[in-house]
Amino acid sequence: MAIATINPFTGQTEQEFEAHSDEEVDRRIGAAQAAFGQLRSTTFAQRAEWMNAAAQLLEDDVEKLARIITIEMGRPIKGARAEVLKCAKGLRFYAQHAEEFLAPEPLADPSSVGASAAGTRYAPIGIVLAVMPWNYPLWQVLRFAGPALMAGNTGLLKHASNVPQAALYLDTLFERAGFPVGAFHTLLIPASRVEKVLRDPRVKATTLTGSEPAGRSLASIAGSEVKHVVLELGGSDPFVVMPSADVDKAASVAVTARNQNNGQSCIAAKRFIVHADVYDEFARLFAERVAALTVGDPLDESTDVGPVATESGRDELEAQVADAVGKGAHVLTGGSVPDRDGWFYEPTVLAGITPEMRLHLEEAFGPVATLYRVESREEALEVANGTTFGLSSAVWTTDEDEQEWFIDNLDAGAVFVNGMTASYPELPFGGVKDSGVGRELAAAGIREFCNLKTVWRG
Ligand code: NAP
Repeated sequence: MAIATINPFTGQTEQEFEAHSDEEVDRRIGAAQAAFGQLRSTTFAQRAEWMNAAAQLLEDDVEKLARIITIEMGRPIKGARAEVLKCAKGLRFYAQHAEEFLAPEPLADPSSVGASAAGTRYAPIGIVLAVMPWNYPLWQVLRFAGPALMAGNTGLLKHASNVPQAALYLDTLFERAGFPVGAFHTLLIPASRVEKVLRDPRVKATTLTGSEPAGRSLASIAGSEVKHVVLELGGSDPFVVMPSADVDKAASVAVTARNQNNGQSCIAAKRFIVHADVYDEFARLFAERVAALTVGDPLDESTDVGPVATESGRDELEAQVADAVGKGAHVLTGGSVPDRDGWFYEPTVLAGITPEMRLHLEEAFGPVATLYRVESREEALEVANGTTFGLSSAVWTTDEDEQEWFIDNLDAGAVFVNGMTASYPELPFGGVKDSGVGRELAAAGIREFCNLKTVWRG
């Protein structure tokens, strides 16, 4: 895949970029190693000052950055702007809380281990390689980089090949904010050159946000090198609606939960599992409101849904829907590629999904929702848990016992009750099953790339 900005709204290549040479990659790894030597001995207060400065740069550049996001991957501009501001908030969160999250933890009774004092402390580990996707081109990277740098690690970014302008902005962000040169840099390389970087002994750990095959491949390399890995992979999140729910509200939130970011969110609700008592009402409201979304130029402030980011992604959606319809699914709205330039796919709701359809098990990475009618909460749970993914989930019920039952039994990294899944710096984020290993955000996220060091004094 060429390293290039290809505007999904027009399908035109706007700018191509040369990959870094092997020598340049080696130089950047060396710079990250040297910066680690400096960064690990700085105070939290110093890092926090630089991190807050990075947040300020993002806020100052919000319009420029939002435009880059929209041009490179098609996110509607209002969402792109919100992404930039969320990144600034995330960096400030870690500037404020890193020291508390990584505070030493003394053992209350050191005599129990024959010591005068004992406990743990967190130490940085060195260079972490981050392999990142295009769907939130700033947020995915910065939710890693903020905690990693606050912990005293340094970062190298291999970004998706279709968002090079975002990658190059991030290349200099932390240096401009005051961090040591080399603390965070981009490697402009194709996926085929990631292995060599990960096998470099100076690189200590890795994190990948992206597809399951990429995650498996990277994890197998990390495993063979005995290097820590965090994986944030795909999802096919269930959105369960039970009879006691506020169906009108659930249907409105469902529209956003499925179609935000043009439907290309790992934590988008993808499968809508609705109790028979409220199914007809939910299906009607949901389909009507999806049909009313404004599809168009993502630079237009009034656009709700823009194009899919890549032509191959759009073609994949088309094939998944054709497969379902061919096997008997009903199209409640959408269901085709509109007759216009760019990689658009109509916001779509499909009902009558059965296990032999691809969409029953595969992730739909675009504005395509599948609807299931169920007769009981047990059946709802069986459908919800019936995939290989386990990223997040949502359940709509006002019955508190039912809420507890779903929270206990949903196989997912998160359960949102009477709301849609979102990520917050304050809450851990990550999946189970094939959706990944490890956690990002909150205290758990900053601790992932630390050496939990046991200290014992006689
Ligand atoms: P992808 O193909 O896996 O690409 C993600 C990144 O991995 C890109 O930088 C890509 O580089 C690189 N890559 C691809 N194959 C690789 C390999 N074999 N070895 C090393 N690096 C490799 O993902 P995508 O399809 O563009 O992104 C969508 C997927 O990401 C969806 O499944 C979505 O659910 C998931 N996602 C998950 C989360 C989460 O937090 N759980 C968040 C966002 C997205 P190139 O661009 O150069 O190929």
